[in-house]
Amino acid sequence: MPKSILIVGAGLSGAVIGRTLAEAGHRVTIWDARDHPGGNCHTERDAETGVMVHVYGPHIFHTDDEEVWSYITGFGRFMPYKNRVKTTSNGQVFSLPVNLHTINQFFGKTLRPDEARAFIETQADTSITDPQTFEDQALRFVGRDLYEAFFKGYTIKQWGCSPTDLPASILKRLPVRFNYDDNYFFHKFQGMPEDGYTAIIERILDHPGITLRLKTRFDGSQRGDADHLFYSGPLDGYYGYDLGRLGYRTLDFDRFTYDGDYQGCAVMNYGEEAVPYTRITEHKHFSPWETHEKSVCYREYSRACGADDIPYYPIRMVEEKALLAEYADRAAAETGVTFVGRLGTYRYLDMDVTIREALDTARLFLSVEADGGSMPAFVYPPL
Ligand code: FAD
Ligand code: UDP
Repeated sequence: MPKSILIVGAGLSGAVIGRTLAEAGHRVTIWDARDHPGGNCHTERDAETGVMVHVYGPHIFHTDDEEVWSYITGFGRFMPYKNRVKTTSNGQVFSLPVNLHTINQFFGKTLRPDEARAFIETQADTSITDPQTFEDQALRFVGRDLYEAFFKGYTIKQWGCSPTDLPASILKRLPVRFNYDDNYFFHKFQGMPEDGYTAIIERILDHPGITLRLKTRFDGSQRGDADHLFYSGPLDGYYGYDLGRLGYRTLDFDRFTYDGDYQGCAVMNYGEEAVPYTRITEHKHFSPWETHEKSVCYREYSRACGADDIPYYPIRMVEEKALLAEYADRAAAETGVTFVGRLGTYRYLDMDVTIREALDTARLFLSVEADGGSMPAFVYPPL
C-alpha cells in the first residue's frame, strides 16, 4: 500500500531516500528552503565567467564503496579528477598532504622513502604514545616544524580554537606519505561530475513519484497527513533550538575574478595564521576538461556560525556533545520521523557516506514497512 512520505531537504540525503522510496511505489514530497536542490553540494555556472562553481565550497567525490560509485555514476558522467592540494607557508608553495616532495623541499634534502621515514621519526615527539589532541597527533607523526608550518595556523583559523583543544581524529583524516603521491584522497574511485552535482541530484529527483517544493521551509509543525517524515534539516532546528544551538563553523566566501589562470591549481591552502583566510579555490580547475579564459576564485574564511548563517562543520566538542545528547534523547522518543544526513545527525559526512546511509535508511524503511514494524528516529545515531 503506497505511503505518503514527506522529506525535508533536497540534498543528497533527501534525494536518495526519496528516489528509493518513489521507486518502491510510495508518494514522496520533498521540501527545501533554498531555491535549488542539491544541498551543500550545489553547483552552478558563474554568469560572468561561465565556470562551474561549487557554491558552498569545493566538493570532490571519492569512495571505496562500489555500490555507491555505481549508484551515483548511474545518474551522470563523472570525469577523472584527482585533488592535488598545494599550501603556501613562509613564502613557499608546498604539496599536501605531507609527502616525500613536501619533506624534501621543506628540509632542503633529497631523501629516499625509507630515509625520509627515519628522518621524520627524528623530528617526531616519540614521548607521545597515545595522542588524544590534534596537536599531539601532529607532534607525534610529523614533528614541530611541519606542524607549525602547515597545520597549526590553518587549524586555528578553521576551528577558531587551539589545536590542543581538538581531537586527534581531525588530523587523522590526512595521511603522511613517504612517496611522491600528491593525491589528497586515497580512495579507489574519484571523480567530478561532468555537468556538476546539481544536475546529478536533479536526475535523482526526476521520478514521477517525487514532488519537489523549493523555497519551502519546514518549521516542525507542518507534518500534515504524511505517514512518515525523513528530516535532513538541523536536529536542534527541529525543536526550535529551545535547548540552545549546536555549535557549527560557517564559511564566508569572498569572490573575485581574474583574467587568465590565477593560481594554477584548484585549491591553495594558507598555513599561516597571519593570512586571514584558510584557502583560495579556483573553480575552473575543478573542471579541467573545460576551457575558460576568465577565472573565478573564492577566498574562504571560517568563523563561528550565528543564527542566520549556514551551518557547515559540526564542532562536536565536549560542550556540543552534551547538548547533542539532550536533543538526541528527545528525538529518539519520536515516532513517525527519522533524522538523517549531516544536519539531522550533526555529523560531518562525506558525500559517499551520505549516499550509503541514505540507501540503507530507505531500505530499512521498506523492510520495516513490509514487516509491519516501526522506523527508528535514528538509523545512524549522532553519538
Ligand atoms: P545538505 O547538503 O546540507 O542538505 C540539507 C538540505 O536541507 C539543504 O538543502 C537545506 O536547505 C535543507 N533544509 C535544512 N533545513 C530545512 C528546513 N527546515 N526546511 C526546508 N529545508 C531545509 N563531501 C565529499 O564527499 N567531498 C568533498 O570534497 C566535500 N567537501 C565539502 C566541503 C565543505 C565546505 C562542506 C561543508 C562539506 C563537504 N562535503 C564533502 C560534505 C557534503 O557537503 C555532504 O556530504 C552533503 O552535503 C550531505 O548531504 P545532506 O543532504 O545530508 O545535507
Ligand atoms: N588541515 C590543516 N592544514 C591544511 C589542511 C588541513 O591544518 O592545509 C587540518 C584542518 O584542521 C582540517 C583537518 O586538517 O580541519 C582535516 O583536513 P581536511 O582536508 O579533511 O579538512 P576539512 O574537510 O575539514 O576542510
